Amino acid sequence: MGNIHPQFWGWYMGSGNFTGALGDFLTAIDGSNLGGGNTAAAMMDSQVIDWFKEKTGFPATAGGSLTSGGSMANMVAHTIALNAKAEVNVREEGILAMPQPLRYYASDQVHNCLKKALETLRLGAKSLTTVPTDNHQRMDITALEQAITDDISAGIKPACAIGTVGTTNTGAVDDLNAIAQLCQKYEIWFHVDGCIGAFLRIAPKHRHLSDGIELADSIALDPHKWLHTPFEAGCVLIRDAKRHFETLKMHGEYLQMQTHGVIAGKFLADYSFDLSRGFKALKIWMSLKENGVKKFGRLIDQNIARAQYLKHLVHESLKLQLVAPVALNIVCFRYANRKIDEADLQAINTEIMLRIQESGLAVPSDTTVAGKHCLRVAINNHRTILPDLDLLIDSVVQHGEDLENEVIDHP
Ligand SMILES: *Cc1c(COP(=O)(O)O)cnc(C)c1O
Repeated sequence: MGNIHPQFWGWYMGSGNFTGALGDFLTAIDGSNLGGGNTAAAMMDSQVIDWFKEKTGFPATAGGSLTSGGSMANMVAHTIALNAKAEVNVREEGILAMPQPLRYYASDQVHNCLKKALETLRLGAKSLTTVPTDNHQRMDITALEQAITDDISAGIKPACAIGTVGTTNTGAVDDLNAIAQLCQKYEIWFHVDGCIGAFLRIAPKHRHLSDGIELADSIALDPHKWLHTPFEAGCVLIRDAKRHFETLKMHGEYLQMQTHGVIAGKFLADYSFDLSRGFKALKIWMSLKENGVKKFGRLIDQNIARAQYLKHLVHESLKLQLVAPVALNIVCFRYANRKIDEADLQAINTEIMLRIQESGLAVPSDTTVAGKHCLRVAINNHRTILPDLDLLIDSVVQHGEDLENEVIDHP
């Protein structure tokens, strides 16, 4: 898609790094299968997870696993939350044996992979209540508590509340401390989808935005986003390592653990759906060793500053309109003009996006926020410099003016 280019801002992707690429190359040569084993590779895997625990404020005793990405990290966390809250041995008996249906809660901005996880677990899409958001796209905490108490009265068991640090649409950050408090009050599993924002923990100027993440029972994070690890690399952290292990451990007669030899030690597949697993840790380990965690933190701050610059350019232009507050590094705006109606606005902005993509200049994507269709620029890119954003704005306005003439004046 062009995501290693300085003017790529579509959806939400890391932009890669050369040391990480070298790590992937060496991984293929080394050939390790990280299902487990008493090897240096397995220890590096555990060390990378230990670093992530330390940075997110999780205890060293927590469990964790490197995954293919954030979707799988969320899937693992939800499986463990389900087993924790089912009140039956759900591995043995299955979900039909549960005494009460379970309910999960997330804001209406929740990422679709969480819905997919609940469907895949056969809890059904209806097991997720989407809580309304305020005008900053943050979860309405009063509405969350109301949904919880309504469910309790109706005989449904509140199982898990999901806070998002950095929503995919707009980068909104839920009030994690407030959600954690309700989870404690009603004995609910507290999951944080930190695929975008968990690494705010290492950003000196914006660390506070992720306060409360350390209170979670589980966190999904995504090194292939803000750590720029070459695809793929996600990670799930589970506070209760025993619960993590009890949910996913499984050993055939052909794979019995030993006290020494090649298969001794912690078996990583006991924390994962996958048995055979790639050596994802090396590319993360090497790029962190080369650059230092502080540099990655400064790049996060830099991305957020670039987004503020873009917001400023949008404000300056009479032809552009900001569609959502800029909380992190995502800017939602559109070409707008009072004489154009909503349907034409959508057509014009979609065509602006496609023309800019096809011209090869840049890749913005689009979305809809509070009913308004808009262009969406996610500056999760360490190669973007300010003139790149000037060019984008000039191009949006130019294409917008051309299209306005085509659509309005010559329909
Ligand atoms: C990207 C994203 C995901 C999914 O992660 P993948 O690595 O693409 O599978 C989940 N949640 C949020 C908030 C995301 O931005």
